[in-house]
Amino acid sequence: MKAAVLRGPGQISAEQVPDPSIAAPTDAIVRITASCVCGSDLWPYRGVTQRRGRIGHEFIGVVQDVGTDVRTVRPGQVVIAPFVYSCGTCANCRSGWTTSCLVGGDWGYPDREGVLVDGGQGEYARVPLADGTLVPARVPVDDDSIPALLTLSDVMGTGHHAAVSAGVQPGGTVVVVGDGAVGLCAVLAAARLGAGRIIVLSTHPDRARVAEKFGATNVVAARGDEAVQAVRELTGGLGADGACECVGTGASWATAVGSVRPGGTVGYVGVPNGVKDGLPLRDMFDRNVNIRGGVAPTRHYLPALLDDVLAGALDPSPVFTWSVPLTDIALGYAAMDNRSQIKVLVRP
Ligand SMILES: [Zn+2]
Ligand SMILES: [Zn+2]
Repeated sequence: MKAAVLRGPGQISAEQVPDPSIAAPTDAIVRITASCVCGSDLWPYRGVTQRRGRIGHEFIGVVQDVGTDVRTVRPGQVVIAPFVYSCGTCANCRSGWTTSCLVGGDWGYPDREGVLVDGGQGEYARVPLADGTLVPARVPVDDDSIPALLTLSDVMGTGHHAAVSAGVQPGGTVVVVGDGAVGLCAVLAAARLGAGRIIVLSTHPDRARVAEKFGATNVVAARGDEAVQAVRELTGGLGADGACECVGTGASWATAVGSVRPGGTVGYVGVPNGVKDGLPLRDMFDRNVNIRGGVAPTRHYLPALLDDVLAGALDPSPVFTWSVPLTDIALGYAAMDNRSQIKVLVRP
């Protein structure tokens, strides 16, 4: 089969790799019908992290084969794979923290037995712990909702985690820091949770338009202190009840913390990168600013979000602004890297 392989900074292409096969009775083989490029894939692509080899962790596809112990999915079903695989039965999975599964793991790395687990950007993937990991999508393979359902693999679930962690309440005020696919999904999630006012920080008119379509009530086209001042002015000098931190840098953290009112909460989902020295702990102490969040347990959120997508009440698909065939995946990465596209869908 063909799958995306990262050979070094900027060097990504679809290469011929071995076809996966069932390695454990709890495995499934999925023929991938849609996957996508994630902002976090750009770290190794840019050479910021040293990851090489198979890549991609968001996909949807059709079950081809299942191991003898698999009970909840069967061949022919369209399924959604979250961005990590998880058992669904360990103590952490049962308390909803599927990303901390005691036996789970990441796509594109060897499993506990040392057998490679395929990346999500390819034609097929072996899915470990299929019962715990895969969620049947209950739609035909060519359904119009596929791009919306694909976002439940990561970005919509992660945006939802930001909004939940920021303590979004009906009628409340929230500021969203970050206008990538996750930030835009956090806007949508905050609207879904009933936020009365959603302030998004964006200096990109095309992204701001998507944010407004998703329910943003105010766009602040500024960064840093200027953005904090604008948010305070919009909230009667107080600050927002919550902030969704969807970037992960020291600057975005300072903006998120500065934008919330005393007693407010920062819900963070941006993978932290150089935040430690910039964390304004003394200001947080003085104003009782709370922090919640971390890596999103999207598998835990998936069933509820899936119901809303299928009911027509939730449509995150506008985050996909472009689609490329797997053989042109390098173009997809380049477009994400230069931010000319918000998120790129990849068709094997
Ligand atoms: Zn992702
Ligand atoms: Zn588990």
